[in-house]
Amino acid sequence: MTHTLVASDLDRTLIYSAAAMDLTVPDAEAPRLLCVEVYERRPLSFLTETAAALLTDLAARALFVPATTRTREQYRRIHLPGPPPRFAVCANGGHLLVDGESDRDWRRTVAARLAEGCAPLDEVHAHLLRAADPAWLLRARTAEDLFSYLVVERSLLPDGWIETLTAWADARGWSVSLQGRKVYAVPKPLTKSAAVAEVRRRTGATEVLAAGDSLLDADLLLAADRAWRPGHGELAATDWHAPQVTAVPERGVAAGERILRAFHEAVREGDGALGTPV
Ligand SMILES: [Mg+2]
Repeated sequence: MTHTLVASDLDRTLIYSAAAMDLTVPDAEAPRLLCVEVYERRPLSFLTETAAALLTDLAARALFVPATTRTREQYRRIHLPGPPPRFAVCANGGHLLVDGESDRDWRRTVAARLAEGCAPLDEVHAHLLRAADPAWLLRARTAEDLFSYLVVERSLLPDGWIETLTAWADARGWSVSLQGRKVYAVPKPLTKSAAVAEVRRRTGATEVLAAGDSLLDADLLLAADRAWRPGHGELAATDWHAPQVTAVPERGVAAGERILRAFHEAVREGDGALGTPV
C-alpha cells in the first residue's frame, strides 16, 4: 500500500489573506470562504469551502504535513479543517512539531547544521537593518532566533535592492525571498525539505507530494516525487519549473483549491494502482 505524505506550504498556497485572494469572478459568483485564521481579532486567512472539504478528505487518506516559514506562534493561529496534523514544519524547517510540540532531537540537528553552514543571524539581521531605508521599512523582526525578515512598503522598494541583498546573503550562506510585504533572509541549511525528509524517515512514507509558491519552497518541490505550484508568487514570476513540478494556471485562492484537487487525485491514483478501494 502506498503511504503518501503530502507536504504543503500554507500562505498563498493553501490559505489566502483578502489581499492575496485575487478573485476574478463577479461578486455574485464568488466562492464561499472559510476563515481559518484570526489576527488581532480580525479575520485574516481563508480557503474556499470546496478547498476545505478537499483538505479534510485528503487528511483522512494521506499524511498531511503543513510546511511553513511561519513561527510556531504564527502557525498556531491557523485552524485548518480536519484533525490537527500530527506533524507540522514551522520556521522554514527550524521546528518540527510532533503532536503540537517542537521535537527536541530535530532542534539539535538543525542547530548543528546552522553552526557550520552559514553566517550567524546577528550579522545578517544587522545588515538588513543597515541596508533598509526608513522611508519604506515598516518593521524588522527575527523569528525563532533562526532567521530575519522585514515588513516593507513594497511599492517603494528600490529597483535592484532585493538583487543586491540576495548577492550579499548568498556569499554568507543565506537566501532571500520576497513574499507580499515581507523580505525574508533565511539560512540556506534551514529548509522545509530537510524537515519533511525527517518526517518521511520517521513514518516510512513511500511517496511525497508537495506544493508551494515561493523561493523558500523550491527545495521542497524538488525533493518531492510530484509537486504543484500556483500561477502566482515568486516561482511563477520567474517561470521556475522542474520535471516533477506542475504549474497550475489558477491564481489566488482558486489556485489553492486546484492544488488540493491535484493532491486528491494523486492520492487516489496511488491507492487505485494498488487495488485499494477508494
Ligand atoms: Mg507561501
